[in-house]
Amino acid sequence: MEIVTYIIAAVIGFFGIMFVVGMDGQWIRLVIGLVLMGGAAVLVYLTRVRPQKQETTVVQKIDLSGDVNLEQMKCRSCGGALSKDSIAIKAGAVFVNCPYCGASYQIEEAPKW
Ligand SMILES: [Zn+2]
Repeated sequence: MEIVTYIIAAVIGFFGIMFVVGMDGQWIRLVIGLVLMGGAAVLVYLTRVRPQKQETTVVQKIDLSGDVNLEQMKCRSCGGALSKDSIAIKAGAVFVNCPYCGASYQIEEAPKW
């Protein structure tokens, strides 16, 4: 969008110059020309000074520490210790995929180990 602003500023500035050059003894044209050139200068100034928009990154963190204690989770079928990689969060529910026995089930509530 900056290039558009520069083009607009150039056009306005050009008209300003034309007004001043072609004032033909009419002071009102000189005033208009100066105002136009001033406007163009302000446009360029604002474009250059205006800080760039910072990219906003939305980071979604899955918080398991509240209800589920990963260190104490064990497979319901074989009792193998479950790591973070064997747990998935889908639609707000905790799904377990045991890497040892291949069991796949959903934890509905935070179990009391
Ligand atoms: Zn298992």
